[in-house]
Amino acid sequence: MLQFDVVVIGAGAAGLMCAAQAGYRGRKVAVVDMGKKPGRKILISGGGRCNFTNEGASPSNYLCANPHFVKSCLSRYTQHDFIELVDRHGLAYHHKTLGQLFCDNSAQDIVDILMTECEWAGVEHFLRSEVLNVVAAAEGGYVVTTSEQQFKCASLVVAAGGLTMPKLGATPIGYKIAEQFGLNVLPTMAALVPFTLHDHDKARFEGLSGVSIACNVSSEDGTAFKENILFTHRGLSGPAVLQISSFWRAGQAVTINLLPELNLSDTLHQWRTEQGSKSLKNSLSTLLPKRFIEILISEHAIPDKALNQLSHTEIEAVATYIHNWTIKPNGTEGYRTAEVTLGGVDTDELSSKTFEAKKAQGLYFIGEVTDVTGWLGGYNFQYAWSCGFAAGQVC
Ligand code: FAD
Repeated sequence: MLQFDVVVIGAGAAGLMCAAQAGYRGRKVAVVDMGKKPGRKILISGGGRCNFTNEGASPSNYLCANPHFVKSCLSRYTQHDFIELVDRHGLAYHHKTLGQLFCDNSAQDIVDILMTECEWAGVEHFLRSEVLNVVAAAEGGYVVTTSEQQFKCASLVVAAGGLTMPKLGATPIGYKIAEQFGLNVLPTMAALVPFTLHDHDKARFEGLSGVSIACNVSSEDGTAFKENILFTHRGLSGPAVLQISSFWRAGQAVTINLLPELNLSDTLHQWRTEQGSKSLKNSLSTLLPKRFIEILISEHAIPDKALNQLSHTEIEAVATYIHNWTIKPNGTEGYRTAEVTLGGVDTDELSSKTFEAKKAQGLYFIGEVTDVTGWLGGYNFQYAWSCGFAAGQVC
């Protein structure tokens, strides 16, 4: 049996950060992962360029049953600390939009930085090793059995991620270990995920695949995001849709303000005076994709008239329709394409300072396996760095 002070399950963002920190403290650390290379999700993140943090990350960018839980770790290891780390390693990166920082070259650069930190800290890696079970040792500590070997450790850090992207090695092992040690696990759900549409809506928008519109999308709980939506051949995607998917629940509608930057009623009144003989269709097509307007006209959602034939009531109805376009998704694409998993290990079971389970000494849960989900935009990696750092100081 291999003896270590710390075994970390999962060579993802949270696990690698934690392992390096613990190694720097002089702990003998093993990282175990079933994949053949570390950081597989990092490698595919941000379209291959990894949106590794957000300059504006704050607790308000996270969903968690206990909204205060993330405050401690985010303030102890901030986005500026991670930026300082990548600067020290000479990473080339750029600001894209809304505070999002991306690698100039490749997400591999982030994995290389983490692996270099692990190497400097003396961390040992055990890849292609699937964790099969964990038991508490009679004399204290834990025994971890993998497909390849057995470990004995004083501290066990579970950084096994959520259920998203099973193709990349997502397994429910983290939740199973939590339940085995009596910790509550909150129901999980795919999040940051495209919507699928009912067949009749899919047929309506068939020709719009690839069309993108800058909108303000809101869910029934009143949360709203102003970013683009994208029509796909399966349904709706784009950053605004991914963001709102974390707040949407089955059976609910989403409301989309298709022209959030203007007051359409005022604009239509002005157009009626200035260019009254022009059709509503051609006028609106200067603001929104023509094919989309044609669909709305074919469905009689908006009238096929010249601007000077529109009554005041019709103008108000068109403006209300465009500013409050409502659609009821059929569902989401699920864990297959979701970026993150909502829910997970209940944070009430964990110390917000150390991430140690209150009911099991020496057992830690960090990263996506916990009930903390960030918005789209680098917030999920920032949480992984922050909680990995926090657990790494004590495990
Ligand atoms: P993971 O990275 O999932 O790591 C868990 C590890 O545990 C995996 O390597 C897995 O192989 C291993 N494991 C699981 N079960 C076992 C087992 N039984 N035995 C051994 N090993 C096991 N977030 C951002 O902030 N910015 C982005 O740009 C971004 N882009 C994304 C793009 C995509 C397509 C996806 C899917 C996600 C993206 N995310 C992004 C989210 C981000 O990737 C996750 O929040 C983050 O990877 C979670 O890190 P983690 O260490 O908790 O878990």
